[in-house]
Amino acid sequence: MGVNAVEIIVIGGGIGGLTAALALAQGGHRVQVLERAARFAQPGPALRLAPNATAVLSLLGLLDHVLDLGSRPRRALLRELGSGAELAELDLGAPLTARYGTPYVVIGRADLLSVLADGCTDADVELRPGRAAIAVDQSRQASSVMGGAVVSCAGGRVYAGDVVLAADGARSVARGLVGRGAPSGEGWAAYRGAVSADALAPDEARDEVVAWMGPDAHFTRYPIRIGEAYEQVAVFRSHQYPLVQPSPLGPLAGAASPGGTGQGRADTGSGQEWGGPDELAEAFSLAAAPVRAAVRSLRRKRCLRMIDRAPLASWTNGRIALLGDAVHPMPGYLAQGACQAIEDAAALADVLRDCPGPRGVQDALAGYQARRAARAIRVARARQVWESAPQARRAPDDYAASDWLYAPQQGRLASGFGVRSAAFGCHARRVIVGRGRGTQPFGMIILLT
Ligand SMILES: Cc1cc2nc3c(=O)[nH]c(=O)nc-3n(C[C@H](O)[C@H](O)[C@H](O)COP(=O)(O)OP(=O)(O)OC[C@H]3O[C@@H](n4cnc5c(N)ncnc54)[C@H](O)[C@@H]3O)c2cc1C
Repeated sequence: MGVNAVEIIVIGGGIGGLTAALALAQGGHRVQVLERAARFAQPGPALRLAPNATAVLSLLGLLDHVLDLGSRPRRALLRELGSGAELAELDLGAPLTARYGTPYVVIGRADLLSVLADGCTDADVELRPGRAAIAVDQSRQASSVMGGAVVSCAGGRVYAGDVVLAADGARSVARGLVGRGAPSGEGWAAYRGAVSADALAPDEARDEVVAWMGPDAHFTRYPIRIGEAYEQVAVFRSHQYPLVQPSPLGPLAGAASPGGTGQGRADTGSGQEWGGPDELAEAFSLAAAPVRAAVRSLRRKRCLRMIDRAPLASWTNGRIALLGDAVHPMPGYLAQGACQAIEDAAALADVLRDCPGPRGVQDALAGYQARRAARAIRVARARQVWESAPQARRAPDDYAASDWLYAPQQGRLASGFGVRSAAFGCHARRVIVGRGRGTQPFGMIILLT
């Protein structure tokens, strides 16, 4: 550790937690990751990583590994759910890479987590599986005894650090420290599953991301490995939900996190269910024939209930900061939840890199919030664009409406998009993306791809 290094405890070894741990360790800090699951690299829905995320993975030195394990779809297609008619197209290939500097990639979740965990091990991050955090305490009493903020885990173990980063998903143990706002839902449910190319028609097993969009339902297929394996996700709004939903401030029993460990039954905890297989079938009953067939093939046992939360006013409290779904859960159909968690991680590494030791961490974390909150809220709210109808078509390689989202937020390429930041290591306090405010059809498709 260097003279300015700080001790950092990360709660949660998902995408955001491991990316933050690696970036911080590369910056010279001592990092431990406490993960509830018995091992890292839990399975879950495959991830579409847009250039705003692959730019960070590139800076961390991981992009080649990710490309080895993932796929690079050629294009994204938006289709109308009922008729299957093509609505819009976005080129995800060479023109996109040329514009943003790094490619659009799809990778299995466990594969990405393995790459991140290996990187952490190489960077001397201490990975501690089987540690379920139950409380975080930064009171004077706890700090004086333990020497910093303290994380207590089930079973009695405690860990102390100068900084605690809560990357433990939408039901974070630390969320009470940054304000009210229990996660809630809007009745969106998802069923998913990976399928082998053999199970698809030849014209379905292609190198493209396809989303069939309807008003209250959508279905997406994307290649985990082109010509070999595809992820399929069906998402719909439950009509049962308004009838059985729990109190708005109450917990959502069985609510799902995207990783394998958090997937639950569609059970409100009140004994009544919503989002069950019958509703899935009904939601897609009028879909185009290929979608109906694909939905029938999905596993019915696991329903992912989408968690939502109004934007938190505060992302940090003293020595504690939240990142990823813990602070800005986003519906899966945005395909940006992991990307935004990765951006959070990079921003944290930036602000803590030049931190003058443990005494400077609170200012540094305040800088993290200033830098990230407005952008994350903008992305989270962009879901509304998804519900609007396409108004005009753009050329497939017209990225004007994508720049605000896909432009790298770190590195030398960022400034080309009006991002007032620089590479890891610079003390950027504020980031402004100044171009591409469009919300036309590709404002819609970028949320899905
Ligand atoms: C169907 C679906 C498809 C999606 N597709 C995409 C996509 O294509 N692209 C994209 O960018 N995003 C996508 N997302 C969103 C993305 O999965 C999440 O936003 C992302 O995983 C958030 O990362 P995270 O690190 O914040 O949380 P998580 O990945 O949920 O990780 C949290 C970690 O914390 C651990 N944990 C939880 N509680 C505790 C505790 N008390 N103590 C210790 N550890 C704990 C968990 O076990 C887990 O490992 C999708 C989501 C869904 C549901």
